[in-house]
Amino acid sequence: MRHYVKIKEVSELLAHIEEPGARILCGGTDLVVKMRSGTIDPQVLLDISDTQALRGIRKVDGRIEIRAATTVSEIIADPAVLEKLPLLSTVLRTLGSTQIRNRATLGGNLVNASPAADSAIPLLLYGAEVIVTSAERERRIPVEEFLMAPGKTALANGEFVQGVSIPIPSVKFSPFFHKVGRRKAMIIAIASLGALMNVEDDKIHDIRLAAGSVAPRPIRLHKLEDDLRGQEITPQLIEQAKEAATTAVSPIDDVRASAEYRREVIGELVARVLRDAAKH
Ligand SMILES: Cc1cc2nc3c(=O)[nH]c(=O)nc-3n(C[C@H](O)[C@H](O)[C@H](O)COP(=O)(O)OP(=O)(O)OC[C@H]3O[C@@H](n4cnc5c(N)ncnc54)[C@H](O)[C@@H]3O)c2cc1C
Repeated sequence: MRHYVKIKEVSELLAHIEEPGARILCGGTDLVVKMRSGTIDPQVLLDISDTQALRGIRKVDGRIEIRAATTVSEIIADPAVLEKLPLLSTVLRTLGSTQIRNRATLGGNLVNASPAADSAIPLLLYGAEVIVTSAERERRIPVEEFLMAPGKTALANGEFVQGVSIPIPSVKFSPFFHKVGRRKAMIIAIASLGALMNVEDDKIHDIRLAAGSVAPRPIRLHKLEDDLRGQEITPQLIEQAKEAATTAVSPIDDVRASAEYRREVIGELVARVLRDAAKH
């Protein structure tokens, strides 16, 4: 029989986390779906959705820390996030439906490690670190290293995600986000692109680009960023960037779209972001 534990304190979580077949349950919007389909069958469910020490958002020394069990809806509405990390709010507004956003959490979205995980795009762009805790230690892992492959993260046995720490950018970036899916509502992305750009008179002073659903994990497009930094946005540059983007990604064919189509889409989205930035 399956055992269910409502976790009140982090110490209780640490006491149970290494039990055979134990699994953390938060909003359940990924885990319960997988349990129903029989993909996984945890023997011990550790429910952290009400663990107060794992909930909430606070500002600390030029950074915003979001604890793992904070819901997507809470993050979207947070004044500090809206002011300092507007792209995080923008992107999370596109995650699932209102009901999903009210249950889904940041920790769950990261640990589920889907190539389409929406939160990963702004977290990659803002250079976030994942705060990971076990009975022995706490460590901070850049989100770029935390997400490894579909369903695979850098979490070791006995570790859980305590939260995410995001540096508040010191320069003003214009945020951009485009997500392409097969339906208007409840889109799991066929491809998505987020950007933070500092552009003046069409000159790209700084640029960060991150893409979802076009590689085994959400990725930063570092090489393309390096090639674009310092350049003037011209029709020719947009064409070059579009071409470069299609080869910078390694998508797969799946039920939602072909790899070829995903390459085309990401090229188109890079072109769109550059055109939008030139208008600002
Ligand atoms: C209809 C529907 C639409 C969706 N749309 C989107 C979408 O548009 N974009 C998107 O990105 N996702 C989408 N999702 C997926 C899902 O809602 C998100 O990934 C969500 O953020 C998961 O959070 P959760 O709290 O529900 O995780 P859970 O289901 O509770 O857990 C997910 C995984 O993370 C582990 N886990 C949870 N918290 C921790 C922690 N603190 N430490 C260690 N492990 C932990 C669990 O053990 C489990 O393996 C959708 C899901 C559904 C059902």
